[in-house]
Amino acid sequence: MNVVRNPATEETIAELPEATIEDADRAVAAAKSAFPAWHAVSPADRGRLLRRLATVVEEHGEELALLETRNVGKPISDSRGEAGMVADVFHFYAGAVDKHFGETIPVPGGVDMTFREPLGVVGLITPWNFPMNIASWKLGPALACGNTIVLKPAELTPLSTLRLGELALEAGIPEGVVNVVVGPGRVVGQRLVEHSDVAKIGFTGSTEVGAGVMRGAAGTIKRVTLELGGKSANVVFADADLEKAAASAPYAVFGNAGQDCCARSRILVERSVFDRFMELLVTATGDIKVGNPEDPSTEMGPLISAGHREKVAAYVDGDVAFRGDAPDGPGFWFPPTLLAPVSNDDRAAREEIFGPVAAVIPFVDEEEAIRLANDTPYGLSGSIWTENGARALRVARALEAGVLSINSNTSVRVQTPFGGFKQSGFGRELGLHALEGYTEVKNVYFATE
Ligand code: NDP
Repeated sequence: MNVVRNPATEETIAELPEATIEDADRAVAAAKSAFPAWHAVSPADRGRLLRRLATVVEEHGEELALLETRNVGKPISDSRGEAGMVADVFHFYAGAVDKHFGETIPVPGGVDMTFREPLGVVGLITPWNFPMNIASWKLGPALACGNTIVLKPAELTPLSTLRLGELALEAGIPEGVVNVVVGPGRVVGQRLVEHSDVAKIGFTGSTEVGAGVMRGAAGTIKRVTLELGGKSANVVFADADLEKAAASAPYAVFGNAGQDCCARSRILVERSVFDRFMELLVTATGDIKVGNPEDPSTEMGPLISAGHREKVAAYVDGDVAFRGDAPDGPGFWFPPTLLAPVSNDDRAAREEIFGPVAAVIPFVDEEEAIRLANDTPYGLSGSIWTENGARALRVARALEAGVLSINSNTSVRVQTPFGGFKQSGFGRELGLHALEGYTEVKNVYFATE
């Protein structure tokens, strides 16, 4: 039995049976038999169904937000935004699907054309930090392109995904097209990865498990898209608007209690303004309101589990420049914490902590900032704060990361590609780029002579 808890109260909020390998096989078989009919639906009609799903999600936005807040512990204001994004993602792909088509290529002796074909049954494996959002980023383009789905959410946070599955049926998406299986990753996830009837795995989670997914997929030459960990840099130059940069930095690392692959958990600050920036940063971090996630004014909730809290705590053993407040419990609380000054070689600067702990690292000049920012196995996101436009673009081009912001700490937009360099994974989600990951190009030559 999978016991699902509210991380803010430790109360049991659901008990679910654990899916087995046989359940995963049944889900794959259902998706396989639903594929021909779903593939045959015209792109415009698939778009209509996705638009209906977007509307149904909007109608159930508050319910989905509350479910997510109770299961993940994230502030209700964040969950409301995320429910809105799920609807926006389905609207986007509803509009995009009939504008994603092949080309004709002039060749001697005939006509050559390309088609964008769906892959077939796609396995989607999602993590516990943004369950419904990440599910929608994969479901939207995969469904739009005519694939059928087996979706495995993290066992810790399956509730909003199960509800999304029901809403897909309510919106008129035929039975068998979206199948949700809740079971342990090493059993059910692994089965999807190795199953010969699954054409692709879209995975978000840790780099370690992602590497195993890649190995497991090799046996059947399965396509994989991997969105993995991060240790992103927030680079603040002396010529930046320091007040703005310092006010924004805490949200970039303590948002979702730091359980965010895009967290700018290394704050790189030019040495000449280090002390001034730290003063501003400490004040802004102290202002973060930590507490009951169902209170609309709360900005940070608890961590996902007791085990995860222990893992996060192990990184806080020295150089604590500031520790904020957090409730005593029950709940898996951890205060917003600043470590400073930290060397980029320290463990806290190298490993993904996935909690509300920021490492603040001084640098001397632009060259050192770029070197330090890139000195990590990861390459997901990052920010550059400067009033010098040429420097901003120069540094953006030099950073080895897939998603960068200048004078902002945002990473995710429905319309723009999202994904990593290096060990943060490969493949892109969101925007039109995601459609590439859920289709194969077929080339057809028609001889006319
Ligand atoms: P995992 O990578 O273990 O889990 C992600 C998903 O993969 C879950 O659905 C999980 O299932 C599933 N899974 C686990 N093992 C396998 C397997 N052998 N084959 C197929 N699927 C599998 O991440 P965790 O949730 O344990 O988090 C650990 C760390 O990963 C975090 O501390 C953080 O550093 C990083 N992380 C990064 C995320 C990101 O957004 N990039 C998101 C989440 C975590 P189940 O959990 O049900 O067993």
